[in-house]
Amino acid sequence: MKFVSMLIRALLLMSVIVFPLLFVTAFKTEERKKPAVKNIILLIGDGMGLSQMSSTYFYKNEEPNFSRFPVVGLSQTSASSHKITDSAAGATALSAGKKTYNGAIGVDQDTNHVETILEYFQKQGKSTALIATSSITHATPASFYAHVDSRNKAFEIAAFMTPSGVDFFAGGGRKFFTQKEENWKSLIKAGYTVDTTALWPASRIESNRKYGFLLADDGMPRITEGRGSFLKDATTLALNYLEKKETPFFMMVEGSQIDWGGHANDAQYVITETLDFDEMVGAVFDFAEKDGNTLVIVTADHETGGFTLSSEVKEVPFKGQQSDYNSIVPTFSTGGHSATMVPVLAFGPGAEKFTGIYQNTEIYTKMMELVGAL
Ligand code: MG
Ligand code: ZN
Repeated sequence: MKFVSMLIRALLLMSVIVFPLLFVTAFKTEERKKPAVKNIILLIGDGMGLSQMSSTYFYKNEEPNFSRFPVVGLSQTSASSHKITDSAAGATALSAGKKTYNGAIGVDQDTNHVETILEYFQKQGKSTALIATSSITHATPASFYAHVDSRNKAFEIAAFMTPSGVDFFAGGGRKFFTQKEENWKSLIKAGYTVDTTALWPASRIESNRKYGFLLADDGMPRITEGRGSFLKDATTLALNYLEKKETPFFMMVEGSQIDWGGHANDAQYVITETLDFDEMVGAVFDFAEKDGNTLVIVTADHETGGFTLSSEVKEVPFKGQQSDYNSIVPTFSTGGHSATMVPVLAFGPGAEKFTGIYQNTEIYTKMMELVGAL
């Protein structure tokens, strides 16, 4: 009898101590699992290394928008196949967290399809948007919605647009849809409103429709050849649309042609494209600042051109050649990509996760953790 009452008392005591503990543990797990971030906006400057970013500090009259970001990190960009990545492997690392071979679009080293963050958001019933100044089928945007063994198969890549379910896209690449009937028809059949001439005013955009803006046959014009404020305008329009939809969203915006200027070893091309990218970054930052639940990440897939801001070498009488440290000469060391680390800037909830030096695939991992997907 005494033993039974002791047992009951012990059980009671245990329940008093253990149950609240269980509750606290459960609550803590709940709290940890609760996604800290609602929206993610990933801004990729293709080929935008630290020197490209630095150039805006010397060629813009006011402080660049890059300065507004409180968190800075560095991303290591090598591919699984090469020390120097291309844009396909670089973007797949960011979109799906997998190191893969150069040329791979949304597939791993063995060409298996890998789910992208954009596809994850779609599956969750959230919204998505993609914007680029290249063709929307080009390696960087393609790696967010397509799964193809080679970046060169643009028509095959375009076929993935409709099934991806992306809600809003804007860029070039019209011909990859208009010159292949199935690609065009599938968009229309799925209910996309597609305009091949111009962006729409925000007042015409309805939250329950899907939109595609294909404004050039292949790449959009250069900023110096009349692209105007397309990048910022398309991004602002997408943000307006996504806000109206009232669902969490993932958006990727690419300044595609910083890379092309690097390949051309054309400093003016590089700098004007980076300045245009920074303008768009400012608009996104304004949105995120107001919204409060949006994480913004600015990074690059790799550096292009081995670009640097050298000093001008001048012939000085009686002294010979001297470097003038007050005169910058943008200089290239290669017509291709380089292996240098690229900057990562972050703002918003979870931004502090992006400090330090890490692999490009970690950017995907951090984003997925912050929305509670990993
Ligand atoms: Mg690109
Ligand atoms: Zn490139």
